[in-house]
Amino acid sequence: MSPGVLETAAAVRGRKVKAAESVAEAIGQIRRVDPQLHAVSQVREDEARRAADDLDRRIARGEDPGPLAGVAFTAKDNICTRWGTTTAGSKILESYRAPYDATVVERLARAGAICVAKTNMDEFGMGSSTENSATVGPTRNPWRTTHVPGGSSGGAAALAAATRGMIHLGSDTGGSIRQPAACCGVTGIKPSYGRVSRYGLLAFASSLDQIGVLEADARECAAALSAMAGKDPMDSTSADVPVPDYVAGLEKGARGLRLGVPKEYFPEGVDPEVEARVREGIDVLRRLGVDVREVSLPHTRHANPTYVLISAAEASSNLARYDGVHYGYRSSEAGSVLEVYARSRAEAFGPEVKRRIMVGTFVLSAGYYDAFYNKACKVRKLIRRDFEAAFREVDAVVSPTSPVTAFPIGDKIDDPLKLYAVDVLTVPANLATVPGVSFPCGFTRAGLPVGMQLYGRPFEDGTILRLAHAFQEATDHHRKAPPVRA
Ligand code: GLN
Repeated sequence: MSPGVLETAAAVRGRKVKAAESVAEAIGQIRRVDPQLHAVSQVREDEARRAADDLDRRIARGEDPGPLAGVAFTAKDNICTRWGTTTAGSKILESYRAPYDATVVERLARAGAICVAKTNMDEFGMGSSTENSATVGPTRNPWRTTHVPGGSSGGAAALAAATRGMIHLGSDTGGSIRQPAACCGVTGIKPSYGRVSRYGLLAFASSLDQIGVLEADARECAAALSAMAGKDPMDSTSADVPVPDYVAGLEKGARGLRLGVPKEYFPEGVDPEVEARVREGIDVLRRLGVDVREVSLPHTRHANPTYVLISAAEASSNLARYDGVHYGYRSSEAGSVLEVYARSRAEAFGPEVKRRIMVGTFVLSAGYYDAFYNKACKVRKLIRRDFEAAFREVDAVVSPTSPVTAFPIGDKIDDPLKLYAVDVLTVPANLATVPGVSFPCGFTRAGLPVGMQLYGRPFEDGTILRLAHAFQEATDHHRKAPPVRA
């Protein structure tokens, strides 16, 4: 079995393994599983080898290659890389080549990691199943290839489960890192809003979007976050808050931390097997010395409609730039400039993206702005206050990540409301700007992974990683390998 992220970096730094070998091994793993999974949109062969050779030469000269030396990483296809295309899973950006690397890509590279692939996603991040990809088509779940991997970072989640020793960048606007992590039995963190620069992330909903990672365990998440986090002059929403060593912080353990179980977070519609596994997971934390108590987040039931309105409003504005002139696809049928806009967008956006643009434009329009968008912003404030109150009593709150496990491909795609419903427990983190981590806490009788989620105070990403790490030291759900495994 291939080594994990920290072991790979240690071996390359210690000159036991060459970066070139590590990168070849990572690309080999991807090539072995991808025919069954359809998780990647592009693999970077020659350039990645060249970057690895460069790093090996630097190591040979005695330079410090960085804490993640020789570790391969993948970028979700909405994260700009100078190599290859950055499509956001959309026909409108099918051949778009970014002129620059996203800050996260640059920071991982500076830490010695090497980008080897771009991963599949729902178009512009809109979806929970990775069935809305116009470029690659649906990605499959390595635990059962007839099922979805979750979404929208489904390619990253499927690869994180089916391979070892890589960092997988994802983005999360309403659950797109955590829900696929849950569906694929891996660990995924959506950091606090402002913790990680979004420079070079194709925007979906700017007040909610955050970049994070999907990994084998909390320790790997901590290592990646330490390299990525921190103020970036290119993203004014990135916060100037010191970045701790998240890996070292894990050693503080979980004993004495206070964990809230929100009574609203096991709503009707949560699969009984999911609820059972998460409650068992809470018992594990209790046995580790965590002080578990009930809390209340009374506005929870409004979170999903609030998210739907705010994310659609922001998307309609962010996606206005794809007009057939500035970027990407242009209709060949168009005559006038208005026709260029209208036809390019009509031909190149998928149905879910169009639906969101229409909803968003509607709720922002004169006469409806106050009734919908403005009201949603007020409710968002109430949701945020719920968290502020809860975090005066506890250090973290816990819930299922998703009410359901991975579902069959095609099961929900024709009914948007059914698909939106799986986001109920993940959207509150983005609305409240708090960090959230999902990690496996067991399996259903049918053998599908169940994810458990922890929320923490803004910029206390380290606390939820600590809890997840303590849990993983006491359990082995995160070590189980799916049937599709490199
Ligand atoms: N599933 C949610 C949506 O469809 C969240 C997506 C995301 O986080 N990008 O909007």
